[in-house]
Amino acid sequence: MAVGPAPLPAPNPYWPNPAPPAPSRALPAVPALTAMPKPPAEHPSLHHTTKDTFAPQPVAPTQPVMPPEITKALGVLKGIQPLPGLQAYADSLGIDLIFNNGAEALKLIQDKNITVAFGDMGNTTAHAQWIADQNLIMINQKYRGNTSPAMVYALSEAIFHEAGHAARNGDNQSSIQEETNCLFLNAWANLFHQQQDPNYANTTQQSELLSNGVALYTQLFFKDPDPQKAALVRRIALKYGVLPINTPDHPTKHTQQVPVPNNLNPGWWLGLPALAHRVVNFVHNQQAAELFGQQ
Ligand SMILES: [Zn+2]
Repeated sequence: MAVGPAPLPAPNPYWPNPAPPAPSRALPAVPALTAMPKPPAEHPSLHHTTKDTFAPQPVAPTQPVMPPEITKALGVLKGIQPLPGLQAYADSLGIDLIFNNGAEALKLIQDKNITVAFGDMGNTTAHAQWIADQNLIMINQKYRGNTSPAMVYALSEAIFHEAGHAARNGDNQSSIQEETNCLFLNAWANLFHQQQDPNYANTTQQSELLSNGVALYTQLFFKDPDPQKAALVRRIALKYGVLPINTPDHPTKHTQQVPVPNNLNPGWWLGLPALAHRVVNFVHNQQAAELFGQQ
């Protein structure tokens, strides 16, 4: 019978669970530990620690790979530029221009580390949504998988709108004033892209996001010859009429007359109340009509 040191225990096939005993301070490294196999290199949750034990370590959450549609849309967002007369037109409607260009919106997204991702928005008709407690701009997943130029433009416009909600307090509270501010962003972006790319102007029926979303508001804000923008007021009232007129970080603005011709607004400035006020008036009149059976 051979005499010598006791054979090393066989490596535990279930390593590292249970964990090997921690080495005692009084002893040099325990042979059993030095004989342990190295953790598989591809296992990201294990690190060889200085305590000679292998312990699961918390792993920094890996950034989900951004879908190509969204990567492209953020690139397009960065290129959105102001249009001549835009600020004056916003002033005439009592709209607070949250961003001066798309690059400011992209910077906000990056500075606040906001995630932009597809998600399940249930049965709603919403195209996108700002979810403050998740720091997330969620895009309705029904738009996933389409990287056509038109869809990328449209996504960038929807992201522009939601970045408007994420700006300032960035809370979940919205208001009619805030929505008019944000709707103006996506309409401006859509008009800008239509002017940049004539093909885009002709593809408005390709998707609900275009026909019932971003392009619709371009029509209502910038192409409807009605100087009072009654169709726009009605649309916003029907969609957002339950909201309060304003919130502290989106105060109601007064309209301003800016003495320059404005090629964006066929009606120009008529001294009307701010758009948000007109929406609220529409809602009140509608409710009164229903109350008194005039509908
Ligand atoms: Zn909104």
